[in-house]
Formats: sequence, structure tokens, C-alpha cells
Amino acid sequence: MCGIVGYIGKHQAAPIILEGLAKLEYRGYDSTGMAVFDGEKINIQKAAGRLQVLENMTRGGETMPGCVGIGHTRWATHGEANEINAHPHQVGKITLVHNGIIENYEEIKKELINKGYTFKTETDSEVGCALLNFLYQKNQNMIKSIEEFKTIVKGSYALGIICSD
Ligand code: GLU
Repeated sequence: MCGIVGYIGKHQAAPIILEGLAKLEYRGYDSTGMAVFDGEKINIQKAAGRLQVLENMTRGGETMPGCVGIGHTRWATHGEANEINAHPHQVGKITLVHNGIIENYEEIKKELINKGYTFKTETDSEVGCALLNFLYQKNQNMIKSIEEFKTIVKGSYALGIICSD
């Protein structure tokens, strides 16, 4: 088991996300990551190993300014526990963290490859991210896309999502 934290508000997101992830450490994990929107772009930082590594990398969140963000502690199910496979994943306008397993990711991945998508990681989660990007490009509506996503994806999953629009 692992954890997801999301924040949107008036405060700096990164320190709050790190604090939230620390509270979830007891659940076990092998890598961590977070994404924060700085008002212009979404910055991502990932680390294999302990949350302390991410905390040090970002000086307690200081290097990732912004008031909107998502964070993740990963317990790898698909792909090695390394920095590349750590969440958040980003495809186009979609940045996402995922807890759980997308059981039918292989068939979804094949369809997306046929549509021209390429993948950087070995995870089922990046496939989910690419699928949501595809649906968002088609629908131009995030809620509609998430509803459609739920009809396609099988498995158990919790998601934290930022759309750059
Ligand atoms: N299945 C995903 C992965 O391996 C998420 C695992 C988790 O819940 O942390 O990246």
C-alpha cells in the first residue's frame, strides 16, 4: 500500500504535500514524487527510496513553489522501483499519481501505441495517464473524460490528477 496527497489553496503546496506523505509512510513504499504548478508550468521531482531523499532534493519543498500540487509514495507493482517509474507521470496536459493496479493496461497500451503514443516507463499508471490525455484531447472536458476513463479501465485505483488547462 502507498499514498496520495493533493493540495490546492493559498499556502505553498510542496511542504504540505511532504508533510502529508510523511503521515502515510507507515503504509510502506519504495519511491516518492510530487508535482507542483508554479503558475506557468508543472514541475515534477521524483526520488527512489525514502521520502527524506525527496525532502532533501527540494529543500523541504522550497525549490518547488506553487499553491497546487500532488504527491505520491509508490509501492511498485508494474516496473522496477526506480526514479523513472516513480510517480507523478505526465502525458501532454495530464499529470497524475496513481494508487492501485490497472488490470487491463496491456490492451490499453497497445491501442495507444497504435494511435502514436510512446511510453517512458514500465508502469500501468503511465498508461492510465496517456489514456486520460487521449480522452481529454477528444472530449476537451475533464469530468467527461474521467467518466469515460472509468468505463474503460479495470482494476482498483485512486488517482490524483492535475490538468494544465
Ligand atoms: N501500479 C502502480 C505502479 O506500479 C502504482 C502502485 C502503487 O499503488 O503505488 O506504479
